[in-house]
Amino acid sequence: MHYLAALSFIDSELDELQEEFGDLPDQVHGKLENLERAKAIVDETRGILDEIKNFVATAKVTLVELKEKEEALAKQQFLVRNNKEFDAITKEIDHLKHEHESLSTRMRTEGLKEENINRILLDQIKDQEKAQEEYDDRKAMLDNIASDQNDTVKDYNRKRKTIVLTLDQDYVQEYERIRKFHKDAAVQVRKNSCSGCFSSVPSQKIVELRNNPEKLFLCENCGRILLDEELYFDESLLDNI
Ligand SMILES: [Zn+2]
Repeated sequence: MHYLAALSFIDSELDELQEEFGDLPDQVHGKLENLERAKAIVDETRGILDEIKNFVATAKVTLVELKEKEEALAKQQFLVRNNKEFDAITKEIDHLKHEHESLSTRMRTEGLKEENINRILLDQIKDQEKAQEEYDDRKAMLDNIASDQNDTVKDYNRKRKTIVLTLDQDYVQEYERIRKFHKDAAVQVRKNSCSGCFSSVPSQKIVELRNNPEKLFLCENCGRILLDEELYFDESLLDNI
């Protein structure tokens, strides 16, 4: 019973330490999600910019090629033998000129698009930096609390392990099962009542509880493990573990 009381004490201390974090872990998680979203947006925009740059680079080469073809055809036109050939080449040159023009127009449009997207990207990078700062800030707060608690938590966890190994495994299982419903799974009887749910404990049960310290008694109302009212648990008992 002393061990169960000790286990219950350690768990409530650990729960309390956990509460110091408040909603900070959730906040850190949320900030991390924001950061990842901001990064994905920046990556997407960079991808669009790369596509535009590739298009412009290819288009530049194509424009030179079109111009060269046009010049070659113009030279060829001097050497034609009849009107039919002359007309055919004129038609071809017109076609190349038209292609050159429409590609130039598209390049200008893409150039404007690139400028706009670059501006948008700058804003998106600022958003990402802000998200990074916010995440770093919360994470640092979390890490601070964790490092402050580190030694205490380690010590409690070590003692908890020893106690669990010392206890009857059936008791441990029962304790863990109840802990899923009540964080304070083992509570003392106080003024003939369960101090978990405050319902009264029959005096017969209190007598049995006192006479059978090796047996588990559960509160009939809430199902918590009942500890004898006279069981004296002092934190200093943990020092020896
Ligand atoms: Zn109860």
